[in-house]
Amino acid sequence: MDVNAFLSWFWENRRILPWRSDRTPYSTWISEAMLQQTRVATVLDYYPRFLSRFPDPKALATASEDEVLKVWEGLGYYSRAKNLMKGAAYICENYNGDLPSDPDLLIRIPGIGPYMTGAISSLAFGKAVPAVDGNVIRIYCRLYSLPLIASEGATFKEIYKRAGNDIPEENPGDFNEALMDLGATVCTPRSPKCSLCPFSNECSAFLLGKQEDFPVKKQKKEVPVEEHTILKIFLGEKILVRKRPDKGLLSGLYEFIDLTGTLSEKEVEKWASDLFGQKKKGNSSDHFTILPLGGAHHIFSHLRWNMTGYEIHLPAEKDAEKAARSLGDLVSKKEYEALAFPSALRAYR
Ligand code: SF4
Repeated sequence: MDVNAFLSWFWENRRILPWRSDRTPYSTWISEAMLQQTRVATVLDYYPRFLSRFPDPKALATASEDEVLKVWEGLGYYSRAKNLMKGAAYICENYNGDLPSDPDLLIRIPGIGPYMTGAISSLAFGKAVPAVDGNVIRIYCRLYSLPLIASEGATFKEIYKRAGNDIPEENPGDFNEALMDLGATVCTPRSPKCSLCPFSNECSAFLLGKQEDFPVKKQKKEVPVEEHTILKIFLGEKILVRKRPDKGLLSGLYEFIDLTGTLSEKEVEKWASDLFGQKKKGNSSDHFTILPLGGAHHIFSHLRWNMTGYEIHLPAEKDAEKAARSLGDLVSKKEYEALAFPSALRAYR
C-alpha cells in the first residue's frame, strides 16, 4: 500500500466532522461508540447533546441509567450506552476519571474492544494502533483480493496484521481516519467509486473487475419473525408503561403493554374487558374506547418484529387502576415524555 499517497488523498478529501475538532480521549470514545452501526448524519445530532449533558467520564458515571438512555433514545443499540456507563465508572474508579493512554489498559475497560482501542490510541494519543472494523476489512479484502468472510475472527486477525504493518508511526490517527473516510465515501459496500480512489492503480479487485466479490459474502440465515400487539393504554390522563427487564433485548428501556401475536380489535376488546372488568363504549355500560393505530415493523440485527397497535382509553376508576397497576406503571404525560423508549416503538410513541 502506498501510504504516503493515501495520506495525501486524505488531507485533500477528509470529511469535516464535529468530533474531529477539539478532540479529547473521552470525546473520541463517545463519538466512536455512537458511530458503530449508525450513520454519520444521525450521530451529528446526538453527539453535541450527549457531550454537553455528560461532558466527562465522571458526569457519565454518576448519571442514572434512565437519564443516559433518554439522551441516547433513538440511536439504537442501547447496550452501547450502558457499556459507556460501565466504562466511565471503571475509568473513574481506576484512573481518576481520565482515559489511560496505554492500549493494553484501554482494552481492559468494559465496552472498549480492539477497534475502539485502536481508534482512541491513534486519534487521541497518536499511537500506531490499527482500528479495524467492517470498512477496513472491506478495503483490505478488495485491495488484495482476499477471499475472506468479513465476520470471521480469522479475517479480523489477518486484516489487523496487515493494517498494523501499514500504519505509520507519524500520523497514525490520520491513517485510521483515511481508512474510515475511504470506506464510508468511496470504497462502499455496493457500487464503490473506484475512479475516485487513491488505490485504483494498485487495487487487485478493481483490476480484476470484481470489487463486489470481496469480502466473500456469508450465506444469510433467515431472520426469525415475532408478532406483537402493542397496547397504548390511557387511564384518564395517565399512560400505562412498563420497564423492560435488566437483561436481554432492549433491556432497561420503557415500553407499552405488549401481547404476543397479532390480535384483532375484537380480541383486544375481549382482553381489555376481561382485565379491566369493563365494556367497550357503545354498550349499555359504556366505559372504554379502542382506536386502531395500524401496523409497523422493526428489524433488529437478528430478529424482526411485526407489530399491530391499539390505543385503549379507560376512565380513571379504582378497579381499572388496580388492574392497570398489575401490568406496569401509570405515569403523567410529562413523566412519559422523559422516559426512553426503543426506536422499535417509534410508530406508537
Ligand atoms: S479501487 Fe475500488 S474496490 Fe479498490 S479499494 Fe478503491 S474503491 Fe475499493
